[in-house]
Amino acid sequence: MSVSSSDQKPAHVALLPSAGMGHLTPFLRLAALLSVQNVQVTFITPYPTVSLSESQALSSLFASFPQITRKQLHLLPLEKLNPTISDDPFYYHFDVIRQSSHLLSPLLSSLSPPLSAFITDMSLASVVIPITEAINLPNYVLFTTSAKMMTLFLSYHITAGSGKDDLHEMDVIKSGLEMMPKSWIPPPLLEKSNNSTKSYFIENGKKMIESSGILVNTFESFEKESLRKLNHGEVIAGLPSVIPIGPLAACDFEKSKPLAWLDGQPAGSILYVSFGSRTALSRDQVRELGEGLVRSGIRFLWVVKDKKVDRQDNEELEEVIGHGLMEKVKEKGLVVKNWLNQEGILGHKAIGGFLSHCGWNSVMEAVWHGVPILAWPQHGDQKVNANVVERNGMGIWVNSWGWGGEIVVTGAEIAGRVQEIMRNESLRGQAMFIREEARKAVGVGGSSNKGLTELIGMWKKF
Ligand code: UDP
Ligand code: UDP
Repeated sequence: MSVSSSDQKPAHVALLPSAGMGHLTPFLRLAALLSVQNVQVTFITPYPTVSLSESQALSSLFASFPQITRKQLHLLPLEKLNPTISDDPFYYHFDVIRQSSHLLSPLLSSLSPPLSAFITDMSLASVVIPITEAINLPNYVLFTTSAKMMTLFLSYHITAGSGKDDLHEMDVIKSGLEMMPKSWIPPPLLEKSNNSTKSYFIENGKKMIESSGILVNTFESFEKESLRKLNHGEVIAGLPSVIPIGPLAACDFEKSKPLAWLDGQPAGSILYVSFGSRTALSRDQVRELGEGLVRSGIRFLWVVKDKKVDRQDNEELEEVIGHGLMEKVKEKGLVVKNWLNQEGILGHKAIGGFLSHCGWNSVMEAVWHGVPILAWPQHGDQKVNANVVERNGMGIWVNSWGWGGEIVVTGAEIAGRVQEIMRNESLRGQAMFIREEARKAVGVGGSSNKGLTELIGMWKKF
């Protein structure tokens, strides 16, 4: 093919996300963004999905963007596999997708016109990169959490392989990075025995160095230091470019009808409480949280989750929080037990604060709308993300609350922190400042906009 004829063709990019809304959402948003920039997009969906919200989000994407080509990666039947055992259904699914990844080769070669680039999730990097390398296809990784978490993800295999028994403080020092306290590190990474989280970090972290580039849903001014270190060989030598392209804005199809209840509330008066798409608090903790919210005197919108996977979350709300608490809650706020469009809520003028687990999408959405965060990280990457929030001055993180399930935080303590977050004017001011920075980053000529535009330009030439 001559250079001049390929120059005239639009770029054709395929995307392959992993399991769970936290991993899927940035892929949906990137697919939409590329599509409106005249990139031909093929979206490969691992089938079936774990949660109902994933399959609904996918249907909405394809209904709104008929120009996006849908392909399914039919996962091998679970009983035929022997994935590394994980009790987390989403982690289990990562393995199922990985073990089905050989089915990708025939799928890729069937695509027309040929692909200019492939973008996959960090949890699939080690199995997908060899497949794309074999056909000379540039492969990018979309890292779905913070750049700071990426510094750990990419250097953990060195620490884990150093033979030191005591990972008391992660040995990322060699990479020029500040020490990360042990308490922030996802606990499975500190275990001596092998587990699925460790192999996920080690295998993918090692392989990502061979990718063509790493896209990350963050922006320059929010994570300047981590991005600088990643791009200057201070975390690991030989890394391809790390390109911040966020915050990836929500698509119109994600936005459901806003809650009428919010319209009746004074500006900035409501605390929004949610722990994301896959975190269920213990019943004891749910009830203390409810008592705390009521006691704070602050009005609130609280989304309760009782099971990790939405398809199994069948208990009545009143059963979960109890009849007495339900009565008290009704006087002070609104409590629901179903999927709400979070992006729409955070953008509502009534919202003045967000009690969040600090899943990275939630952080980016709060940033986008300038809402201060009361951080209560529960699992995985969330403490590292909470630290990013705190260091940027847009939230409070109470370290002593620990990981989800470590202790039961009392209602009295929660009430105090809720009051603090809702009354702190300087946090609110800083959150509004960061909101402007985020909007500049994705606006024309902004850092994230430039990064993505350059990539698209390069793909068109491929
Ligand atoms: N989300 C939502 N409504 C809900 C729960 C979650 O819209 O009731 C969205 C939220 O806006 C975010 C994603 O689901 O985009 C969750 O991703 P995040 O990284 O915040 O956390 P995770 O669910 O992966 O723990
Ligand atoms: N984890 C969990 N629930 C979550 C997120 C993570 O139980 O909502 C667990 C997960 O099973 C794994 C560990 O936390 O054992 C590490 O998660 P990671 O940092 O890789 O974050 P993720 O990729 O899930 O966003």
